Amino acid sequence: MMTAICPGSFDPVTNGHLDIIERAAEIFGHVIVGVLKNPSKKSLFTVEERSALLQAAVSHLPNVEVDHFQGLLVDYAKRKGARVIIKGLRAISDFEYEFQMALTNKRQNPEIETMFMMTKNEYSFLSSSMVKELAYFGGDLTGLVPDQVIAALDRKVHTRGLSND
Ligand code: ADP
Repeated sequence: MMTAICPGSFDPVTNGHLDIIERAAEIFGHVIVGVLKNPSKKSLFTVEERSALLQAAVSHLPNVEVDHFQGLLVDYAKRKGARVIIKGLRAISDFEYEFQMALTNKRQNPEIETMFMMTKNEYSFLSSSMVKELAYFGGDLTGLVPDQVIAALDRKVHTRGLSND
């Protein structure tokens, strides 16, 4: 069975992420959503909160597992027995960074392949940072993130906490 990893910060998960995860789950036997715990990057949600929101959003997909990791993605992929990394592409602006990442990872471990999926047109503008911006200023998030994420953002914005992971 082929295992693929969908890595990201997921701070928080959006319907754009979920579209990529669902499509990956149709192709690969096992999909691991790897939530990156990055101590040097400020996040709104802790890694536990990000994972719980993802878990709730993928509970209808039996072959999708939510996990978290620190350190090099290729090392994590190897540990998990995954040969494929799936990334979503929204725009040309994503391409340059993703190209650099894919080549770096290839050099670190040539056995691991990065594969790209194009965003669904309706989510091409959607990012976690845009979602947070909208939440801060009371914008309408309907259809952009799962309902549980809207509720979690409401709670966060009222306490205004930034976590360190
Ligand atoms: P963001 O850039 O929104 O903060 P992450 O760092 O969590 O997202 O990204 C995880 C992965 O999901 C990346 O491969 C990213 O390109 C992809 N992704 C994020 N938003 C979308 C979207 N709206 N459509 C397709 N892919 C997306």
